[in-house]
Amino acid sequence: MEKFERLTGAAAPLMRININTDIIIPINRLISYKRGELGPWCFEAWRYAAEGVEIPEFVLNKPRYRHAKILVAGDNFGCGSSREHAVWSLSDFGFRCIIAPSFGDIFYWNCFQNGLLPIRLPENKVKELAAEIELTEDASMTIDLKTLSIATPTGREIAFTTDPERREALLEGLDDIGMTLKFDAQIRNHQSRDRKARPWIYRREETSRVARVLILAGDGIGSEIVAEVQRVVEWFMAKRRLAIELREELFGISAWKAYGELMRKETWDEIVAADAILFGAIGSPEYGQLPAAAREVDQLLRIRKELDLFCNLRPVRTLAALRACSTLRPDVIEGCDLMIVRELCGGIYFGTPRAREKLADGSERAVNTCMYTTAEIERIARTAFELARVRSGRVCSVDKSNVLTETGGLWRDTVQTLRDRHYQDISLSHMYVDNCAMQLVRAPKQFDVLLTENLFGDILSDCAAMVAGSLGMLPSASMGPLRPDGGRHALYEPIHGSAPDIAGKGIANPLGAIMSFALCLRYSLGLPQEADRLEGAVAAAISRGARTADIAQPRDNAISTKTMGDAVLKELEQTQ
Ligand code: NAD
Repeated sequence: MEKFERLTGAAAPLMRININTDIIIPINRLISYKRGELGPWCFEAWRYAAEGVEIPEFVLNKPRYRHAKILVAGDNFGCGSSREHAVWSLSDFGFRCIIAPSFGDIFYWNCFQNGLLPIRLPENKVKELAAEIELTEDASMTIDLKTLSIATPTGREIAFTTDPERREALLEGLDDIGMTLKFDAQIRNHQSRDRKARPWIYRREETSRVARVLILAGDGIGSEIVAEVQRVVEWFMAKRRLAIELREELFGISAWKAYGELMRKETWDEIVAADAILFGAIGSPEYGQLPAAAREVDQLLRIRKELDLFCNLRPVRTLAALRACSTLRPDVIEGCDLMIVRELCGGIYFGTPRAREKLADGSERAVNTCMYTTAEIERIARTAFELARVRSGRVCSVDKSNVLTETGGLWRDTVQTLRDRHYQDISLSHMYVDNCAMQLVRAPKQFDVLLTENLFGDILSDCAAMVAGSLGMLPSASMGPLRPDGGRHALYEPIHGSAPDIAGKGIANPLGAIMSFALCLRYSLGLPQEADRLEGAVAAAISRGARTADIAQPRDNAISTKTMGDAVLKELEQTQ
């Protein structure tokens, strides 16, 4: 862009008001002419008669104004459309400065972007100036942007003001991009420092590489529901161009049958390398027939522990169309939307010692240990408080500190202390778990973020399933801490188990698993709009009457797992 410092040239008075961008350059000329060619068509309707003959009375056709560089115009100059072409055509005509009492806003800022200086002066001064130009033999004026002054044809000085940044840009001949690039080195320095300090902000950019998503269908209904999830993932890959490398490994009983191991080393390597795992379910009567050594370790708990998936999010929502499916009264659950934040790597599931031993009298004694540290409680409580900040600002922390005075007491004290130190904007309440189980079925809408430890979270979320209508509807996300590379391990699974009672029948509800993939889109792939798209498709399928047996009313025709998958895919197609 040409620099604008000092301009001397003829000025032309055009004291009409509300000169709009269509008058400055008619739209039909934009079809055939480009920037640089628009000058002849500037003010076309006023300059030419119908036959293309110049109208001599029009000011810009008069010899003394033909080569004007400055236009002195009436109020609200450049109003109308946001087309940049109006500025281009004035520049192509030869103008470099427009003086008026006021301008159309967009036109005004477009001027600076294109090297044209707009000057606002009070109306009386503009009128005086226009009269002076007409009365003076030499219509020449000087505009000095450095000193912010106008020398009129008679030699009078008029001071003007303008936006300091825009002035600097014009003086240097830079548009907005040019002005930003002036700070290129500082921006790059800041970004490289910031990338180290807050790597998660840059994750999206980094994960624009292909994300590795691993499918572990597992046992029982796992393979049936995950087959539908896989179709949904493939739809997003094909239709929404999601860069996902989908991999699959046998896990659980099917792996035992194929490899003689519940989770072979190759599977473990895939698990560690995955950006996200889509898990079905674990649990089967067939485990009873495996050698004791193979059963010693629960492979799902191993994944949770070794990947440190401490943060388990379980959103529970009532879909309006499913109100009648619940055993709870519709008015009790209508509009319910809560988030259970469950600690997933501590507590009685992992505490030691744990044992089952024979006593001398032939009876047995069994021990499990519930254990929590301050750090374990703090990190999950922090998640709950952060989530509350983008929800309703309320957290209810659930414990059993009246009886389990050690672990429960530490839980309550730690959560309260953290809130008092760092989250005073959050309203925190505490509730005993037995009361909470009752409150969840009595008045679930009182809860927003429900924070709790491992065992209680497991039980309370099954209880909360009635708020959503069925256990088959609830998704979950289990996430580890942020790694230095900005990523985190994550596993997505429905909250239900392997449902051996219905496994193999093709009737399981796949929606909890499908909505777990929506959580994966939101939390691991950084694609909240795609997550909304999928959740919307599930809600639409339900509202059009798609019902697996678990959410069907007696009058409904219950559909299969696969038909439910079809219904979601059909709704996804509608969103394209
Ligand atoms: P479950 O969640 O498997 O089933 C409870 C009830 O809900 C059953 O009647 C079942 O038919 C029904 N149900 C569950 N999911 C459903 C779905 N998607 N659609 C329709 N109905 C559904 O719990 P369970 O029966 O107590 O346990 C069965 C096995 O699952 C056990 O081995 C248990 O250890 C295991 N389990 C695994 C997980 C997991 O994989 N994360 C969680 C819970 C239980």
